[in-house]
Amino acid sequence: MQEVLKNLEPARLWEIFEDLTKIARPSGGEEKVRDYVRAWAEGRGFNCAQDEVGNLIVDVPATAGRHDRPTLVLQVHGDMICERDQDATDDPAEGRITLRRDGDWLLATKTTLGADNGIGLATAMALAEDQGAEHGRWEILVTVDEESGLKGVKQLNANLLSGRLMLNLDSEEQGEVTVSSAGGEDVKILLPTRRYLVSSSAHGFEARVRGLRGGHSGTDIHLGHLNTIQVLAGLLNQLEVPFRLVNISGGQARNGIPREASARVVVGRDGHNEFSRQWSQACHDLGRLYEDREKNLAFSLDEAKPVSAFSSEDSQRIISTLLWQLPVDSSHVLRLVKEAHLKQVGTPIKVVALHAGLECGTLASRMPDLDVVSLGPTIRFPHSPDERVLIRTVPAFYQLVREIATQV
Ligand SMILES: [Zn+2]
Repeated sequence: MQEVLKNLEPARLWEIFEDLTKIARPSGGEEKVRDYVRAWAEGRGFNCAQDEVGNLIVDVPATAGRHDRPTLVLQVHGDMICERDQDATDDPAEGRITLRRDGDWLLATKTTLGADNGIGLATAMALAEDQGAEHGRWEILVTVDEESGLKGVKQLNANLLSGRLMLNLDSEEQGEVTVSSAGGEDVKILLPTRRYLVSSSAHGFEARVRGLRGGHSGTDIHLGHLNTIQVLAGLLNQLEVPFRLVNISGGQARNGIPREASARVVVGRDGHNEFSRQWSQACHDLGRLYEDREKNLAFSLDEAKPVSAFSSEDSQRIISTLLWQLPVDSSHVLRLVKEAHLKQVGTPIKVVALHAGLECGTLASRMPDLDVVSLGPTIRFPHSPDERVLIRTVPAFYQLVREIATQV
């Protein structure tokens, strides 16, 4: 072991990381690191599967008495960004990285370090060797080509993966767990419905919500700006007067948080005044609830003469569909992470949404039943020759992952 890594814990993790600094692993050129992981796995009797694009899955069997536990996937990417200063003698693209220390930081001399995602990979491998750890089946998923646009994960043969609980080890802040990341998805939902003619005595309204802040649906998604379509659907959902939907629409750009939405509804002649009263009350309450976040929120309700409308059941189904959200609260993995962090550190872990793309976001959109969160040690300035990992966060990260992975 090199002097800079002497006496660091966990020793086996750092030993593997040291090996990785000598292996070229640029995006699209992961053969050598894959061979390294494969040879390691075979040496320990772990089966490996590789898909067409080169993603590797190492099957780590359950320890005695743990075969009934659900499979946990530990996910990392095998490639790294190979940046170097002009006068650097080293080159990560050729497997030459010289480690150095700056206080409690570990970094490389004039090149990227590859802690992103080398520490994650070393963690998964060291854990699989950890004799004291009793656990269910683990699958270590090492993807290719992450850094050039998540290419490996986009083409992953998901049939090779049996686990539906996943820890992505590619985050960069100790004490935080990432539960969502920006991804792009177009959803087309077909609901079989019918329209019926509306009686001439019925009353029609056009309800509108305007003035929301909006923003980019990726980079601004963590700011808490309201989505006006969900606001409108939520308001209509609260009304007790029976109504039927004529239409509902909102938003303009596919990557913009919707700022305006409107819906046409019909109510029976007797419900007319009460509908109007309940709508105003619901708008008033919502406006007060969000007055700090959405200062210009405006509501209106105007008379509009309808011709036809959906049945009340279909109207309810449409509104419920629009209110759908990711069930973050029901995540089993997130609960394990929270418990493990509280037990180990004594304080609650910070739950964050990230606005850069992470592989697990892409995976989650491809595998709807996947339950995944992301963790990592503290890494700064990744993708640049200033890349560094805070050494003391590495054993803490390892212990946290170990605790979670053995509690599944
Ligand atoms: Zn990464």
